[in-house]
Amino acid sequence: MSSIIQLLPEHVANQIAAGEVIQRPASAVKELLENAVDAGATKIKLIIKEAGSTLIQVIDNGSGMNAFDARLAFSRHATSKIRNADDLWEIRTMGFRGEALASMAAVARVEMKTRPHSDETGTLIEVEGTEIKRQEPCACQPGTSIAIKNLFYNVPARRNFLKSNTVEIRHIFDEFHRVALAFPAIAFQLFSNDEEIFQLSPGNLKQRIAGIFGATWNEKLLPVQENTDLVSISGFAGKPEFARKTRGEQFFFVNNRYIRNSNLHHAVIAAYEGLIPQGTFPSYFIFFETNPARIDVNIHPTKTEIKFEDERSVYAILRSTIKRSIGAYSLAPQLDFDQNPAFEIPLPPKHVPANAPAPVINPGYDPFKNSGRPDGALKRLSQARWDQLAFIDQEALLLPGASTQENTGTENSIPWLLHGRYILSQVKSGLLIIDIIRAKERILFEKFIAHTAGAGASQQLLFPVVREFSAPDYALIQSIEPELKAMGFSLEPFGTRTMLINGVPPDILEQDAGKVLDQLIEQIHKGGEELKLDTKQAVAAKLAGLLARTGQISSEPSSLIALIEQLFACNTANYSPSGKSTVQILRMDELSARFGKS
Ligand code: ADP
Ligand code: MG
Repeated sequence: MSSIIQLLPEHVANQIAAGEVIQRPASAVKELLENAVDAGATKIKLIIKEAGSTLIQVIDNGSGMNAFDARLAFSRHATSKIRNADDLWEIRTMGFRGEALASMAAVARVEMKTRPHSDETGTLIEVEGTEIKRQEPCACQPGTSIAIKNLFYNVPARRNFLKSNTVEIRHIFDEFHRVALAFPAIAFQLFSNDEEIFQLSPGNLKQRIAGIFGATWNEKLLPVQENTDLVSISGFAGKPEFARKTRGEQFFFVNNRYIRNSNLHHAVIAAYEGLIPQGTFPSYFIFFETNPARIDVNIHPTKTEIKFEDERSVYAILRSTIKRSIGAYSLAPQLDFDQNPAFEIPLPPKHVPANAPAPVINPGYDPFKNSGRPDGALKRLSQARWDQLAFIDQEALLLPGASTQENTGTENSIPWLLHGRYILSQVKSGLLIIDIIRAKERILFEKFIAHTAGAGASQQLLFPVVREFSAPDYALIQSIEPELKAMGFSLEPFGTRTMLINGVPPDILEQDAGKVLDQLIEQIHKGGEELKLDTKQAVAAKLAGLLARTGQISSEPSSLIALIEQLFACNTANYSPSGKSTVQILRMDELSARFGKS
């Protein structure tokens, strides 16, 4: 009687097992990068061709392997790292199952060159469908280079299952970002089709974030830090005003491993509640350090989804930590070298807890609609807004009309225009000084940013303007058309490198339409880099910067009050989009100190 049960041929078994570990090029990238990190490399280079389908190569300057280990590394369950299943999370190395190289060898042609630093020569090994085809000494740099060629060449089903190159490369970048963020002290390079995509020098986390996502990130991040017995949290969260429509840069790491956890994601979102518009998402780069015993071990370690044993507490700690960071940010003045030290906004007393700013989102808000009401317009400011403003002077700030019995009787204090540049107004603690240009920048910026979806308010031109552009300018305009549209520009291609300007943001005078667009393009060219990553922010800031410097403000108290009101209705009233102070308070005690003892 012949048996109906048969053993799978070994190469088939291997391919099946490999499918678990290597699902797409990005999985191979992850495994190779993690091996290089584990090998103690300080420099890691990733080379990709055709989104990884023809080549994935990782070159590191780590420990390297001797000839014996090099061969062994390709056997299944060969690992220099594992202890036992329980301490998987204890292990500070990334790999632990000894399956990655074996799996890759089962579904690709693999070429490895490796050399320990102490040896003169290295080893070359070529493996194809699990079979070692060649092994010989070779000359090579200390460290290891592993090239995965023609991934899935022998598994057509997998190969056909791959998505477009654009999608696969996206996954590769994601894996690269995760490892590069977790190890900012390691230098990383990424080449795709011979083009250098990333060149990341060793540094701290903030520098690494800026290195990956762009220099503008330096001003987008708030430090996050908390140590408790349960968990230590560190990293950065995005400032509320940089929240975006797209789910963008959101990273959790536990003990330096990238993880996902929708519950903790929710904790972060909850911390921003009321501070960012519905449907926008903050960025975050959060690192948890915890005793591995506190991680739910029932969850498979190769999965990125993990749970904490006491997740409710971690949720609460995370939420309040981030809330506190946001609160501290809206309280603390930023470094501003233009600032006259005598005018410095005092920090709140140490013992006063930093409250997160109150909800202030009003999508329908139009800062340039003059309220038409004269004095007392400020009364309309909500209590929440007053609380937020109170950062300027913890107990003493009272603008005209604010609701408190302690009001000093300045109910109708009239703001005053100084040299067309500053608005002066009496407040309870002294003199409030507003920089008009910076205030206008802030107001316009938030207005432009508020139009995230579809077209912003646009003013149709009676006589559309025809404008011809240089090739680079024209290309730039095309690439930022959605942003321009969101800001209120209505443009229409009109022959070669020519655009018809049909409409402009309402804040632009009809006759300035062409000029403003020209200047904006010029500004954006100057800005260069910033544009790549957050086009909308960059375009909005530039346009706000331009428009804030045009037009004159009337010295009519009603228009001054309207401007004050518009400024304090902003999310981040106290800073211009480039982080400079919009307001200062000259306190009574500072003033009397200037006059000296009487
Ligand atoms: P794991 O990482 O789980 O141990 P792998 O299959 O990824 O399993 O690697 C097997 C072994 O090969 C590792 O444990 C390590 O000893 C060795 N190895 C792999 N890549 C490298 C590298 N870049 N440098 C030095 N040793 C490596
Ligand atoms: Mg590994």
